[in-house]
Amino acid sequence: MSTRLQPIRGTRDLIGADARRHQAVAEVARRIAALYGFEEWITPIFEDTRVFARGLGETSDVVAKEMYTFTDRGGDSLTLRPENTAGVCRALVSNGLTQNLPQKVFYAGPMFRYERPQKGRYRQFHQIGVEVLGAAEPLADAEVIACGWRIIQALGIADGVVLEINTLGDAESREAYRAALLSYFTAHEAALSPDSRVRLHRNPLRILDSKDAGDRRLVAEAPLITDFLTPAARAHYEAVLRHLAVFGVPVRENPRIVRGLDYYSHTAFEFVTDRLGAQGTVMGGGRYNGLVEEMGGPPTPAVGWAAGMERLALLMEAAGRTPPAPRPVAVIPREEAAEAAAIAAAEALRGAGRLAVMEYRGSLKRRMERADRLQARAALLVAADGSCEWKDLDTGEQRPIALAEAIALAPAPTTG
Ligand code: ATP
Ligand code: MG
Repeated sequence: MSTRLQPIRGTRDLIGADARRHQAVAEVARRIAALYGFEEWITPIFEDTRVFARGLGETSDVVAKEMYTFTDRGGDSLTLRPENTAGVCRALVSNGLTQNLPQKVFYAGPMFRYERPQKGRYRQFHQIGVEVLGAAEPLADAEVIACGWRIIQALGIADGVVLEINTLGDAESREAYRAALLSYFTAHEAALSPDSRVRLHRNPLRILDSKDAGDRRLVAEAPLITDFLTPAARAHYEAVLRHLAVFGVPVRENPRIVRGLDYYSHTAFEFVTDRLGAQGTVMGGGRYNGLVEEMGGPPTPAVGWAAGMERLALLMEAAGRTPPAPRPVAVIPREEAAEAAAIAAAEALRGAGRLAVMEYRGSLKRRMERADRLQARAALLVAADGSCEWKDLDTGEQRPIALAEAIALAPAPTTG
């Protein structure tokens, strides 16, 4: 006997209700992002390792320890994308679009990170995301956030989800803040976790993002960025808050938010919930003004977010928002001689955009049983001369029906 192969740790098969929730997240997000003028980009799942190693900043957790990096047969170092923002910025430059701004990008697809798997945290997971490339205005920050909030609302999971927002200021604000953090955490170095002791000298801001309980106690007393903002940085932040009020997005300011990657400046935000245990961040993003330049393009201000599709899907499940399984019409020939007429009827239904399934074999009785198991809405019994009967499988009622009426009664597929 051959070995029964299992999925790789931290990966999942999405089947049935899991797949329907996943699809709904993608479809709803794609539809709403399109309303805001975002167009989908589909970039490669693997890239030159330098796209991430430079783009995401050497001190981020992702680059330091979570990447799937390998050497291919040609000797090149490749990395499975841990996120899509760096790939989108690389694509902006590779495709010569840096003079054609702004670009408003939507994406959806798998990402890969080598981390400890748990509920809502996987090694292959999926993100939806949007980016506005080439806009420095606070309105871009606010509109990107509003679009994310509309998606969360449209998925029916807004209850208990809160937008937390902060500013990381401009380079000057952050430099002053970094110095203040360095002296604060250096004074408490012995109490820091080993990871954070490393962060202290590479990028003390990253300590603010630590999940270690001891670190979190120190972080609670650490200096706040808000006390180090330049007037320009403060003005940007206040404009974002003002626009968000117009968009009607409820906001909770949280001066502790720094975000996991190194490239952010100004606005940083997360949509969080307490309904997913430790994996409480469903959507995160902010402004990043140096990333396109890192990819060899001109300085290009940008803002965006990414959301974990699995976490959105978990919230849908908890909110009873799982899309129902489709209910087709089961098309059943009354006898072997009716098979051609049944095929024609099924194709007529499908041609009109209706769900029709056919069994490949079995007696009339077996096919009716199968229709029940499929939760078909109805069985369409077709005779050799093309005449039909409709059996409603909810009420059991059966009657002759014209094909046109059957088409009108048959369910259409539901989409997000
Ligand atoms: P976390 O703090 O939960 O590790 P992060 O800061 O690493 O999140 P980002 O890089 O900002 O996350 O990614 C954006 C979103 O992608 C997260 O808010 C989360 O919803 C989702 N996400 C990130 N890593 C994973 C993962 N390993 N499994 C599932 N979803 C994830
Ligand atoms: Mg992470």
